[in-house]
Amino acid sequence: MEKWEQLYEGKAKKVFATDDPALLIVSYKDDATAFNGKKKGSIAGKGVINNRMSNRLMQRLEAAGVPTHFVEELSERETLVKKVSIVPLEVIVRNVSAGSFAKRYGVEEGIVFPSPTVEFSYKNDALDDPLICLPHIFALGLATKEEMATIIDCALRVNAFLKEFWAACSVTLVDFKIEFGRLADGTIILADEISPDTCRLWDAVTGEKLDKDRFRRDLGGVEEAYAEIMRRLLDHDA
Ligand code: 5GP
Repeated sequence: MEKWEQLYEGKAKKVFATDDPALLIVSYKDDATAFNGKKKGSIAGKGVINNRMSNRLMQRLEAAGVPTHFVEELSERETLVKKVSIVPLEVIVRNVSAGSFAKRYGVEEGIVFPSPTVEFSYKNDALDDPLICLPHIFALGLATKEEMATIIDCALRVNAFLKEFWAACSVTLVDFKIEFGRLADGTIILADEISPDTCRLWDAVTGEKLDKDRFRRDLGGVEEAYAEIMRRLLDHDA
């Protein structure tokens, strides 16, 4: 596999072409941003943790019947993935109130929902990723009804799997964001990453935040939280 030119540089990852037109290499950076890039920083070692964590979780999801873009971990920071065209939606699943949900409805964080919620944001930096409803997704032609049915079903299966996985690590999966892509034949698969950057993960006993909220909210102990959540995942796998 030959690594070719850089195609794209995002906030947390770079994407490279390869000699196979169906495959790309993603490279995870330590750069951290929040509030649509308004807050910038770096979390030492984050790229290594996010790469390894996302790959392990995607491999498990694949085994559980959720198709993903994961192909092969190439190094500490680099992974070979299937090339997709990203559906421009952030798919957010919540089990417990936090973040923008708590703010929008004026409720405290930590309310456990009777069943998970699924919502969507339109991926558009210039518009600050606005919340979007299904009729508007269809009106804008961002995805079809069939694709959204697949995406919602996959998102709930990802949640059921991850909730149980993290519970076994004494971690509460509060909420998370995932993204989907279309293969050349139109098949919808899970893409992007699953990591402490994209999930809220709270210690099941103390409620301590073990995710990017430590960076977003200047809580300190950011690197330590990423290392701790990775340690729990590795202990679970051991
Ligand atoms: P909220 O809408 O409460 O800010 O975020 C809900 C969940 O989705 C959190 O787990 C958060 O980490 C994730 N999330 C939402 N938007 C983004 C985003 O633009 N980037 C990343 N990395 N995660 C996001």
